[in-house]
Amino acid sequence: MRIIVQKFGGTSLSTSQAKEHVIHHIKRERDNGYAVVVVVSAIGRRGDPYATDTLLEQLAPFAAYVDLKEQDMLLSCGEMISATLIGTQIRAAGMPAVVLSGAEAGIETDDDYGSAKIIAIHPERIVKALEAGQVVVVTGFQGRTKQGAITTLGRGGSDTSATALGAALQAEIVDIYTDVNGVLTADPKLVSDARPIAKVSYAEICHMAREGAKVVHPRAVEIAQQARIPVRVRSTFSEEEGTLVQDEAWQHNEHAVLDRHVTGIAYALGITQLHVSGTEQQPHDPRLIFESLAAHGISVDFINVTASHSLFTVQGEQAQLAEKLIAEQGLQVRLEAACAKVSVIGGGMNGQPGVMARIVSALSQEQIPILQSADSNAAIWVLVKEKHMAMALKCLHSTFDLNR
Ligand code: ADP
Ligand code: MG
Repeated sequence: MRIIVQKFGGTSLSTSQAKEHVIHHIKRERDNGYAVVVVVSAIGRRGDPYATDTLLEQLAPFAAYVDLKEQDMLLSCGEMISATLIGTQIRAAGMPAVVLSGAEAGIETDDDYGSAKIIAIHPERIVKALEAGQVVVVTGFQGRTKQGAITTLGRGGSDTSATALGAALQAEIVDIYTDVNGVLTADPKLVSDARPIAKVSYAEICHMAREGAKVVHPRAVEIAQQARIPVRVRSTFSEEEGTLVQDEAWQHNEHAVLDRHVTGIAYALGITQLHVSGTEQQPHDPRLIFESLAAHGISVDFINVTASHSLFTVQGEQAQLAEKLIAEQGLQVRLEAACAKVSVIGGGMNGQPGVMARIVSALSQEQIPILQSADSNAAIWVLVKEKHMAMALKCLHSTFDLNR
């Protein structure tokens, strides 16, 4: 049995026209001879009646009384609704179909409610249905504990459901259908001339996803990589094949890929830079700083420690807590809020001279100050003010010819 997993995101299900596209993709792969497993997200985005964010908002006024286990019962409803609707519509289109909840599909997780991890998949029920010729629709983003409680997998969790099912079923491919034509060189919402990348390695896409390219969840990619299952990220609204994510080893014959130093540009917002130095009473002691941040679960980035000061960034609301912890130690701390991390990513940039020179020159031409920078063998990161972020993306994108 040749199995394909097709995952459809929220915007792919939000209008009747979109759902017709979904049915079309299912029918095409069935006609191609595949046994089809469909994984669906909740319908729509924040504000839509059954979107995950909308469900979550219902509890917001009672935040102090929320039980996380019960909250997962609520959050799981979005996918129950979309799966039932799509399953019914598949039958209406003349194909036999069965709808399974995450629990029924055998997705077993730990009990970390709200961001549960999949620990096992018992796919027997899916296999039986596939063997009987049915399209199997599975609710994304959810599973159950050994004790039977409903759990959800955290943001982007339906991507993870899809690749985990793909791995358990030894699918030939996992298709992630979304509202853009694949993984693009940058977020098309901010860089209008971003272009789809035809092929990328698991490592590159993981890098992009971790740095903010939310088109596919990094955990989902890791699972596919471990199982050596190719993933295709593609649009619900076209026939184009989008981006194929596969093993680097297969790519080594591909001249186009070897030639590419920079694959894409990603960004993350809501970052605060902290500048910590000593005072006369309390000399600068990096051990004090980083141990207390670690003890409070605050993760740090862009770390730069010298004899006289420590410079680093923290994400979101953790900034206030970090500031308080450091001030309590008698150290002096200065905050630079509203920063953004811009990541220039490319598996082929390792050992290539001049990448940083091009970044610096492009940003200085636009008079965008670099607050800090860091690099690894597959990425260079620069910290800029949020207000400069969109321009930084655009100019870096064109500096590396990603629009061509
Ligand atoms: P879905 O609901 O289908 O899971 P998501 O909103 O999670 O969709 O992901 C798709 C969105 O990811 C796109 O609309 C796009 O704005 C955003 N995105 C960010 N970076 C990229 C990128 N490099 N390539 C493609 N899309 C990106
Ligand atoms: Mg998504």
